Amino acid sequence: MAKTKSKKNVAIKFDTDWKYDPAPESKDHIRLQESYDLFINGEFSKPSSGKYFETINPANEKKLAMVADANEKDVDRAVTSARTAYDKTWSKMPAKERGKYIYRIARIMQERARELAVIESMDGGKAIRESRDVDVPLAAAHFFYYAGWADKVKYAVPGASAKPLGVAGQIIPWNFPLLMAAWKIAPALAAGNTVVLKPAETTPLTALKLAEIIRDADLPPGVVNIITGAGATGAALVNHPGIDKIAFTGSTDVGKIIQKAIAGTNKKYTLELGGKAANIIFEDAAIDQAVEGIINGIFFNQGHVCCAGSRLFIQESVAKKVIRKLKDRMETLIVGDPLDKNTDIGAINSKMQLDKIKQYLKIGVNEGGEMFQTSCSVPSKGFWCKPTLFTNVSQSSRIVQEEIFGPVLAIQTFRTVEEVIEKANNIPYGLSGGVWTDKGSKIFKVTSALRAGVVWANTYNKFDPTSPFGGYKESGVGREGGLHGLMPYLEVEHN
Ligand code: ADP
Repeated sequence: MAKTKSKKNVAIKFDTDWKYDPAPESKDHIRLQESYDLFINGEFSKPSSGKYFETINPANEKKLAMVADANEKDVDRAVTSARTAYDKTWSKMPAKERGKYIYRIARIMQERARELAVIESMDGGKAIRESRDVDVPLAAAHFFYYAGWADKVKYAVPGASAKPLGVAGQIIPWNFPLLMAAWKIAPALAAGNTVVLKPAETTPLTALKLAEIIRDADLPPGVVNIITGAGATGAALVNHPGIDKIAFTGSTDVGKIIQKAIAGTNKKYTLELGGKAANIIFEDAAIDQAVEGIINGIFFNQGHVCCAGSRLFIQESVAKKVIRKLKDRMETLIVGDPLDKNTDIGAINSKMQLDKIKQYLKIGVNEGGEMFQTSCSVPSKGFWCKPTLFTNVSQSSRIVQEEIFGPVLAIQTFRTVEEVIEKANNIPYGLSGGVWTDKGSKIFKVTSALRAGVVWANTYNKFDPTSPFGGYKESGVGREGGLHGLMPYLEVEHN
């Protein structure tokens, strides 16, 4: 019989001071050019203004490369090239041939996955674990998924015929640069459209790498054009008369500007905007799993996630316990070098975003919120925010109502199902939410009452190319992902 030690004699000691050794991801294989031009008509060409802007690494503030600043002339060149490619090549090509190109892009992305992940972390500041395990694989998965749709579009809407729209103008933000590019380009191409895409000015590099991949995949010139620049370039794209559809992901403010700009035109649009998700923990939930879900929900990607679980509602009877466990778990989070494989929370994307987060921290404290930040140290250079939570906040607090887009959690408590549904919905946004409970019936009740496009149950931040994603209210219009994400790129005529 095996010997068992008496429990009394075993001293369990938790040493909280030990540190992980650095485990940096290699960047020796990364080849960045001094400067990047605009990808128009299948080749890289100089911007007509001759102007370039800097893109930096937010973890050390060092310049990574100079990037072309596209003006109206360049936007016109890109749209004209997309139109010609649509008329002469892409719309004439058999759908299954289009599908082959999209598969090819997916495969090359997989082959270059490590390079893409490292560049994503260098340019955007996100932890390599996330770019490596989430962003890049999901981006490739979107191309694989929509490649499968290319020759099945005619079966997508039974009893109707579906045609592509023409040229899609696509504008994306800096929080998931490559993944957002995939969300936009893959369904547009599968539906038979051509594309002009503009990445965000702080994170253009992986989109430019994607341009290289698209060129290497021998996609006919002009089918995908990738132009860089800031808001003015985006506005020029939105206002170009040769665009048939705008797909935008970004702030609600810019979304509203775009909506106004295209009102009265024939342009179709989808907008994926801000969010302020409620993550709801009931007393019967598996508390340890829920705590992991809260951590993943708000600290994943530095809270730079429109569907981040930035509002936490805890049922009163377990509030103390959950907050204690949450603080303990937060203390173990490693903030620092995005290229270190142990890092949980990387750098804030830009100084501007860090200033905005700091401003909200002040607002929260001034409104009477009780702020807790972990005791970790952060590097002296770069843009950093320690994981933060607020208690003693009310429904009307600005940090409860407004999107912060950083690792900042606002905690409220509740007693009944009705109360929490009311509080969770009392917000201008409706992108996502989370429910944690042992009872299936409660999951059905709460998920169907929440006015949000995506609600996770007993998990959080899970994505799949087959699932639609998008918002209610000020969180946007339209869906991306799945069959729903294909439809906004099609003109459907019922027979
Ligand atoms: P965020 O707050 O996430 O940075 P923004 O809405 O400011 O979001 O930016 C998202 C994208 O929209 C970026 O690519 C940005 O350059 C672009 N953009 C900013 N202003 C405009 C505008 N007026 N019209 C079109 N695009 C814009």
